[in-house]
Amino acid sequence: MDVIASLCKRRGFIFQSSEIYGGLNGFWDYGPLGTQLKRNIREAWWMDVVQRRDDVVGLDASIIMHPKVWEASGHVGGFADPMVDCKVCKKRYKADNFCEEQGQELIRTATGFALPPGLQCTSCGSKDLTEPRSFNLMFKTFVGPVEDGSSVAYLRPETAQGIFAQFSNVLDTSRQKVPFGIAQIGKAFRNEINPRNYTFRSREFEQMELEFFIKPGTDAEWHAYWVNERMKWYASIGLPSSSLHQDVHPKEKLAHYASACVDVQYDFPFGRQELEGIAARGNYDLSRHQEFSGKTLDYFNQETNERFVPHVVEPSAGVDRIALAILCNAYREEWIAKGKDEGAAGQVIEAELGKPAPEGYEARTVMRFHPRVAPIKVAVFPLLKNKPELVAKGREIFESLRSVWPCFWDVAGAIGRRYRRQDEAGTPYCVTVDFQTLQDDTVTVRERDSMKQERVAVKELDHLMWQRLR
Ligand code: ATP
Repeated sequence: MDVIASLCKRRGFIFQSSEIYGGLNGFWDYGPLGTQLKRNIREAWWMDVVQRRDDVVGLDASIIMHPKVWEASGHVGGFADPMVDCKVCKKRYKADNFCEEQGQELIRTATGFALPPGLQCTSCGSKDLTEPRSFNLMFKTFVGPVEDGSSVAYLRPETAQGIFAQFSNVLDTSRQKVPFGIAQIGKAFRNEINPRNYTFRSREFEQMELEFFIKPGTDAEWHAYWVNERMKWYASIGLPSSSLHQDVHPKEKLAHYASACVDVQYDFPFGRQELEGIAARGNYDLSRHQEFSGKTLDYFNQETNERFVPHVVEPSAGVDRIALAILCNAYREEWIAKGKDEGAAGQVIEAELGKPAPEGYEARTVMRFHPRVAPIKVAVFPLLKNKPELVAKGREIFESLRSVWPCFWDVAGAIGRRYRRQDEAGTPYCVTVDFQTLQDDTVTVRERDSMKQERVAVKELDHLMWQRLR
């Protein structure tokens, strides 16, 4: 993870938030490449979950909502993690992780939680620990100038409740019929006790959530349908099925209103962890909002004359976790035979981390992003920066390509060095404009993973990129 985090900083994928002030634990900023990577993840999700479907529409709800939303959802009363404090060094832990790390399990009691014996602070070694106490994960703020109990509001800990609260308005205006879905992408905030594993558990993060409303009784089939759709989507952004897993929650671990839940997990360098949860939540959320708001949130089927509160299947994914999985999956260090980048035959060996390349080879770091999510799709290089004809021709090609794709223009240094920079950024194709271009209007297109080069007519470039980059 350290190697990947260092590349992320060096190449401008991810920075610590407020770094010049020493950072703020649990908060991260995305640099130029990371921003583009996240945009691509969001767009790929929106494309497949909303744009390409007849039965899903979008929503962009506010981050701060009426506090009653969070009473109805159960977050004010129940969105809490048990935590343990070391009384000596004051370090605070999430109780379940704290026990797990010491090979034990947190004990559930009738009134809450208890610690098994023998645990010690992993920071100072003390055994003087508090009992597990509940800690609400919602960030509180005040709306308006008066800071008292009546003006308390919360930053949303999930985007889903905005969807439930607007169910009727969307239904009335979108001409959708059950089954149909409402999708939303946006920031969520949780005051996590122990932010860790780089960006994996942050205090500010982004969710992509779909609430798919269905007829009661069809829960199992729609749940299976969405698990399958979501697995296909992960394959479409280049996460291999060998690194993905489905964690099916046993019935006894489900929330009382849920009939099924499957977590999609990825094998991170720090272990197998959740990217997305797909839950069949019955009609719990809409019923609770009916109860707390006094408004009817049901659906009338005109064909069958039936009235019901729809059930819901909820695939809920985290943009940041998916970005991290993509970064981990893409990272490779290789030793390549010298000259291979200039088109010579020669081997590529997977590098041994931390060792120098053997005689006759050079090292390259390459981010093998799927073209769908690669931050930059094409880089354009004029062979020499002091030849105005090459620069002008290159610029013309670059302007044409970048009206469609995120592109990068680089005139500095030897071509090999420019390739190496794009390999680290994960750019699938590099286009080089040379003297032959001026004669026959062809360019060299170099593919990132195989490093193969081909000569392509400039007028074919757009078509080639359309074929290969989607
Ligand atoms: P965990 O058990 O890891 O805390 P969760 O089960 O509480 O996650 P959900 O409430 O199901 O998570 O949220 C849906 C998705 O939102 C998660 O699958 C994850 O991708 C993302 N997510 C939740 N909490 C965080 C966080 N603290 N940082 C980054 N992403 C998060």
